[in-house]
Amino acid sequence: MLLEIKDIDVRYGRNHAVKTISLNIEQGEIVTVLGANGAGKSSLLKAVQGMVRLSGGNIIFDGEDISRWSAPKRVQNGISLVPEGRQIFVSMSVEDNLLMGAYSRKEGDISAEIEAVFERFPNLKERRHMSAAVLSGGEQQMLAVGRAMLARPKIMMLDEPSLGLSPLLVKQLFELIKELNDNGLSILLVEQNTHMALQYADRGYVLELGDIVASGTPDKLLADEKLTEAYLGGG
Ligand code: ATP
Repeated sequence: MLLEIKDIDVRYGRNHAVKTISLNIEQGEIVTVLGANGAGKSSLLKAVQGMVRLSGGNIIFDGEDISRWSAPKRVQNGISLVPEGRQIFVSMSVEDNLLMGAYSRKEGDISAEIEAVFERFPNLKERRHMSAAVLSGGEQQMLAVGRAMLARPKIMMLDEPSLGLSPLLVKQLFELIKELNDNGLSILLVEQNTHMALQYADRGYVLELGDIVASGTPDKLLADEKLTEAYLGGG
């Protein structure tokens, strides 16, 4: 098992955002977490990255209990988050944004990897010395993924990456996720675009008010009529 999330709780004061949930990801899987606004999806990803404190439970990654590790240590050890809203640095150049993705790396020549990202995303290459502020929404999303790749992750977590993208760009983004996965990267994908996510995922979990209310293969989730009506956009 690559990632085991065991009975974790996240609280913000009295708000119990994640309620003793467990989920796991095998090496090489694409796992999606679905659910309405406020279900606790972002809190779950932040808990795995170490950006919010656990009120209970444990997170085991690659055989080690990382529950008390700092966020940078988790990045260094192979966990990389593409946050909601991309959060790229608009005052910096495209290339410097990519370099930020490698800040926690101990060694290695990153210039070849930067060039590899530019090969993959020619639009970014053309704008490498420009401010990231000039990028379109889709290009910003690709930059956020490229930045996460530079941390050389074993697992990439993406928080609603399709938000605000045109259908064509959403398709390209999911194809990119699939390609990264084919090359061995495990993926934990939070999405509100449920049909797209279930087309690409090996398994999914549905969160409701901090609880897991369903889990299984896309076929199983899509066959559940109550579920598709309530959470999956009416089937
Ligand atoms: P969305 O899709 O809207 O981002 P989500 O499923 O990602 O929703 P979270 O952002 O994890 O949900 O939020 C879960 C609950 O925790 C919500 O009730 C939210 O208001 C609350 N919450 C999130 N972050 C904080 C915070 N920093 N302080 C207090 N409450 C918070």
